[in-house]
Amino acid sequence: MIPFELTILGCGSASPAKERNPTAQYLKWADRCFLLDCGEGSQMRMLEYGLKSSRIEHIYITHLHGDHFFGLIGLLTTFGMLKRTAPLKIFGPPGLAAIIELQLELTGSVLSYTLEFITWEPVFAKIFEDEHLEVYTIPLSHRTPTCGYLFQEKPGQRKLIRHKVESLNIPINQLASIKAGADFIGGDGFCHSNATLTEAPRAPRRFAFITDTVYLPNIAPLIGDVDLLYHESTFNNANADKAISTFHSTAEQAASIAASAGAKRLLIGHFSAKLKKDDLGNLLAEATSIFPNTVLAEEGMKLEF
Ligand SMILES: [Zn+2]
Ligand SMILES: [Zn+2]
Repeated sequence: MIPFELTILGCGSASPAKERNPTAQYLKWADRCFLLDCGEGSQMRMLEYGLKSSRIEHIYITHLHGDHFFGLIGLLTTFGMLKRTAPLKIFGPPGLAAIIELQLELTGSVLSYTLEFITWEPVFAKIFEDEHLEVYTIPLSHRTPTCGYLFQEKPGQRKLIRHKVESLNIPINQLASIKAGADFIGGDGFCHSNATLTEAPRAPRRFAFITDTVYLPNIAPLIGDVDLLYHESTFNNANADKAISTFHSTAEQAASIAASAGAKRLLIGHFSAKLKKDDLGNLLAEATSIFPNTVLAEEGMKLEF
């Protein structure tokens, strides 16, 4: 199966915490790499975990709070120093391009590659598509325009049933069209329907990256039955009032989004600096009481789906 995997580079929130870096995740599909948010220190984490930053094709920024993009200018100028030539796309909110362009200009940084900004409006929309993958924005409710992202594979072609192909002596030059859905007419004129010659491909895999947001139940139908849902869980139940006043979520709220969406697995992160390592067990218990298949994000953690 084509590798589809996520590595956590940072799972903290805005205030610095000793054990955690601010938000960043490295998503890999086959040999294609994407960076999701780029908090301070993201370059160092990629070095530490042996992840090639030069492979990154796209960077997806959720919003303009520093804990989600203050590592970006450093990474972009490193690419320049390393004489990167591959073009780079950055998806993000209005204002991001102006900030980065000003930083590049005033620091006299010259890039060796083409940088393209794709600015979204905070609505549900398809913002990228190619032969294999689609990416959607998921509008969130935070203190500044914010979108999460949904990554999904496109459905593969139908799979040939080998013994049928062999027993019917189907010519090689017809196999591609049968995989694409065509029927086969045998030498005797009999029509073999596609359903008898092929089987359905495996279900496309999907990953949703949701940070930062106040509890927003209406995102559940947009996310649907994702294989993995990352949802911010900045606070525990004891601080549920802070979650509301700062437009963040609790672990229990993240779990209830996962449950109502029908997600297969939930990953929680963006922990408040006030939550120490020992507090995370309770935070996890609050989430698993609603959605049992929940894991705590930890730096360096790799998840495959
Ligand atoms: Zn944040
Ligand atoms: Zn924020």
